[in-house]
Amino acid sequence: MKLFELLLLALALYYFLIFRPKAIKEKKRRQEVEKKSKASSQTTSAVPIIEKMVACDFCKVRLPDSDAVIFDGRFYCGQAHLKSINSEGFLGSSKRVLSNNYDLRPDSVAIDTVVIHHISLPEGKFGGHAIEDFFCNRLNPNDDPYYPTIVDLQVSAHFLIKRSGEVVQFVSTLKRAWHAGASTLMERQKCNDFSIGIELEGTGELPFEPGQYQALQLLIQEIQIKHPISMIVGHSDISPGRKQDPGKFFDWQYFKEISQISEQKFPFGMSSR
Ligand SMILES: [Zn+2]
Ligand SMILES: [Zn+2]
Repeated sequence: MKLFELLLLALALYYFLIFRPKAIKEKKRRQEVEKKSKASSQTTSAVPIIEKMVACDFCKVRLPDSDAVIFDGRFYCGQAHLKSINSEGFLGSSKRVLSNNYDLRPDSVAIDTVVIHHISLPEGKFGGHAIEDFFCNRLNPNDDPYYPTIVDLQVSAHFLIKRSGEVVQFVSTLKRAWHAGASTLMERQKCNDFSIGIELEGTGELPFEPGQYQALQLLIQEIQIKHPISMIVGHSDISPGRKQDPGKFFDWQYFKEISQISEQKFPFGMSSR
């Protein structure tokens, strides 16, 4: 019996002092190896590349940003939607400088008229951002002796076409911009109600740039897709005696030719005025 007890004791000692610590060590080692291989497989295996998805500003279709046309920080599914006016009344290919100088058009009015203007600020000087500032009520009255007289006017146009042909949009075509003031067209007053105002950067003393006519033609083409335009007039036509723009340097004949818009849509004729 004594021998048997000694044997049991020896076995127990072997188990607790040698076998068990070894087994625990081995288990730990395996866990360590497993952990390492897991970590390395995560870094070496193909990690799926997740492309940033963006929405077309016109049709809202979602596409990877690498496939989108990007303009002024917005995304488009293609050139056709870039150059269109969207359902909110904004032209894709215009720089948006949003003005608060607008309100709602009267209920169920047809937007059927385009009014062409000219503007330059300071008067006779081109470039810069004074026109944008003026339409956004942030013109600095100290920048020009003329500015204090206009700084509080609160006006806007839907679009401005700069000398470079760049198009800036201030107000949705669906909303009423404040560009025409007191005005009458074919016995209809308050032309802002039913018109879209386009300013050409210019003066009454100089011809407009070919790029401006080109941009105007493309812009009116898009406007006509969205709105039933039946008349294209100058500011001086609807506010005679009070306004002279776009002035005698606006070439109506040339514009009609490049735009191929029917002469019937020019109720004040083709002559310079
Ligand atoms: Zn689209
Ligand atoms: Zn005007």
